[in-house]
Amino acid sequence: MLMAGKGFLGFLCPDLWQRGIQDIDLDKLKSRGIGALIFDIDNTLAKWGESEISRDIIGWIERAKLKGFRMCILSNNLSSRVEAISKRLGIPAVRKGIKPFRYAFNRAIAVMASDPKHTAVVGDQVFTDILGGNLCGMYTILVAPISRHEFITTRLVRVLEKLTLRYLLARGMIAPKDIETRRPLEMAGAGSCDGHDS
Ligand SMILES: [Mg+2]
Repeated sequence: MLMAGKGFLGFLCPDLWQRGIQDIDLDKLKSRGIGALIFDIDNTLAKWGESEISRDIIGWIERAKLKGFRMCILSNNLSSRVEAISKRLGIPAVRKGIKPFRYAFNRAIAVMASDPKHTAVVGDQVFTDILGGNLCGMYTILVAPISRHEFITTRLVRVLEKLTLRYLLARGMIAPKDIETRRPLEMAGAGSCDGHDS
């Protein structure tokens, strides 16, 4: 969880860095008391604007179900695509959720009948997924974006995200190996980095 005394910058630091959803260790989450998961869609579950989900991620979601995790999709997106992905994965979706505002996350937590302490948020963006999750007091997991293709405003936010991460690195709040996990998956090739707890 978020360490006290870091101020606002601490809210931008994820608890765990991973290359992708499929690399998240479900048993480790369980041992932390996490039983509910909130997922971002764009470039976390699927490539931006696409509905196709990789076999690795589908397999991971199925394993999570078997282990008893409750799950919910949270997207700023309004489209029927959210519904299609929700149906495909068999997990509920909260739409029109404006991240990083708490209201959106609280709706997802309510859908799963969970609470922030026992919920983790998984997303690819620092200023929406991670900031919002930390503000709510959830465990936060930052994954690398699946693809380089993104909405124009997201691309602009990425520039700010990069600068912020460099600043956090300079202040010793994150480690060089954390930054390494940020390269888009389709660029990074095979293999995954171990996450760590901040
Ligand atoms: Mg995203």
